[in-house]
Amino acid sequence: MATIFTRIAKGEIPSFKVAEDDNYYAFLDINPMAKGHTLVIPKNVENDYIFNLDPETYAGLCQFARKVAIAIKAAIPCQRVGVAVLGMEVPHTHIHLVPLQTEADMDFRKAKLSLTNEEFKQIAGSIASEYEKL
Ligand code: AMP
Repeated sequence: MATIFTRIAKGEIPSFKVAEDDNYYAFLDINPMAKGHTLVIPKNVENDYIFNLDPETYAGLCQFARKVAIAIKAAIPCQRVGVAVLGMEVPHTHIHLVPLQTEADMDFRKAKLSLTNEEFKQIAGSIASEYEKL
């Protein structure tokens, strides 16, 4: 059975898309730690542990995440974009990209932001338009 993230990449489950190419997809985390918190996934590989990916998929995912992070930094006021890989919840490799003002913004235990659909749309749109410029 397809993972929830495969179904998101196929458009079967809605998401706030930020960017995609043939093999990778980026969308806003629905429980964000900060505005612009984005998840980056391989579309066609459901391996649940990033270091079990084949080297080519792993390298491609990192290259794609780098471009998305540059777009996030351009769209969202922040000091830098933090990177994390947990995978404790969803068994489909994903990289978290989180705009940071301080180290505390990357604390996965803290209460998540509650955003409206309009806010999610606006944030995704602004990151997407920066991505298109790259
Ligand atoms: P983890 O597997 O521990 O890295 O956490 C999974 C992340 O996926 C969490 O930050 C969730 O908020 C996020 N998440 C789960 N389902 C969705 C969804 N349908 N759309 C966007 N983000 C999701």
